[in-house]
Amino acid sequence: MKVYLQTFGCRANQYDSEVVRGLLEQAGAELVSDAVDADAAVFNSCAVTAAAEADLRRAVRRAARRRPTIKTVVMGCAAARDADGIGALPNVSRVIPGAGGAEVAAALGMAAGDDRPVRQTGTRALLRIQDGCDEHCTFCATTLARGANRSRPADDLVTEAGQLAEHHAEIVITGVHVGSYGLDIGTSLGALVDELVRAVPRARFRLSSVEATEVDDRLRERLTANDGGLVPYLHAPLQSGSDRVLRRMGRHWYTAATYARAIERIVRDAPVFGLGADIIAGFPGESEEDHRATMSLVSSLPFTGLHVFPFSARPGTAAQRIGAPVASADAPRRADELRAEGERLATAYRARRAGGSADVIVIGDRAHRSGLTEDYVSVIPADDALSRGTRMRMRLTIDNGVLFGHAC
Ligand code: SF4
Repeated sequence: MKVYLQTFGCRANQYDSEVVRGLLEQAGAELVSDAVDADAAVFNSCAVTAAAEADLRRAVRRAARRRPTIKTVVMGCAAARDADGIGALPNVSRVIPGAGGAEVAAALGMAAGDDRPVRQTGTRALLRIQDGCDEHCTFCATTLARGANRSRPADDLVTEAGQLAEHHAEIVITGVHVGSYGLDIGTSLGALVDELVRAVPRARFRLSSVEATEVDDRLRERLTANDGGLVPYLHAPLQSGSDRVLRRMGRHWYTAATYARAIERIVRDAPVFGLGADIIAGFPGESEEDHRATMSLVSSLPFTGLHVFPFSARPGTAAQRIGAPVASADAPRRADELRAEGERLATAYRARRAGGSADVIVIGDRAHRSGLTEDYVSVIPADDALSRGTRMRMRLTIDNGVLFGHAC
């Protein structure tokens, strides 16, 4: 059977698609890159924004139009949120909420084998350590789609990471709420990272996204050691720098001040440290003063990259009913201002990195070859003959704001 697989959304979804790919290939299926050549299609859906759901619906309709005989299965978050609506789309024979790789295989009449995707399509591998979330941020559809926090056993994760390290120089630790790992099984993210770094020394590990206030001392030591184990990089969702807006978002576990203190405690002893954050611009009720508070908090912290999203109301979320929408022009304008400030900080950080050295992994296909440092900065390898997946120490130089990497 020829199968077309398309993934929307976050790294947790991308991991789940790698599981599906592995299971289907084990069962003898051939993965094809265009639905027009496929007998079946699997779409792994996302519900984080209205645009993501619209993209999915468009892709499902397009597959049916171009390949009228195609058998379509939709999995993921949007499938969990709107099974009936998605089930009514053309050629959809099965809707599977959430991550279910084995269910996808069964829906295509295939036996499910080993669901650990030990050789993945990307240069850097993904390791989903937990699913779901126990929090209820008012804007979030993911927690509604993925359910409560469920951690995978550490032994399984260490085994899987060991197998991944045979093919991948970096393993990205991901999930829906990574920082809550272990709360349901009597352990912690810090303990898991210690085990992974000790048991799998041949790969470096990167945390995908962790709340700043969930970084305990154990994890902080690993993050700042820069010893080739856990990389010195943290993507800590901020969402807003206004306490009033954070309360409206239901993000009760931190304030602007405790977020800033947590970040300062982590990065103060780390000259090389990548710091990212998600921010929502234009949340209902956000005033210009709230936006200024977010801008000033961003400017005061050593960010090296920001993901800024204009607010997108999700059906069924509390934020959809919260009222007080901001003026339509304000959200994109505020988002642009935040992005510009993020880029200013990132440019300054790249300039500071020049003259130093970095642990670089070569990524991307031949046409788009680049290198990724331990602190998540993109560099251009001076030697363009280096193959994808090569990991080496490089000396950094800068030209017109672009960092170049030279073999040390
Ligand atoms: S912490 Fe909030 S935003 Fe993140 S998954 Fe949980 S509910 Fe959603």
